[in-house]
Amino acid sequence: MKSFYIDYPQEKIDDYQHAYRCIFCKIPTTIIFGLLENHSENCVYRNKQGKSAQLEAKLKPHIERFNESLTDEVD
Ligand SMILES: [Zn+2]
Repeated sequence: MKSFYIDYPQEKIDDYQHAYRCIFCKIPTTIIFGLLENHSENCVYRNKQGKSAQLEAKLKPHIERFNESLTDEVD
């Protein structure tokens, strides 16, 4: 199962010699650290990958219901 996301497009950060950042949300790779949630919430890459990640999350019982607003439990 995929747990690290490192295949996002990156660009060099001018001020640093060996630093790169996500080309969409401009967050450094050292901060993202391969985790999807470390991208900006409106990052194009995050939103694209997030759709498949949400499907995986449904299979994990220990995951908190982060999308509780979407589930409409009446009981
Ligand atoms: Zn990003």
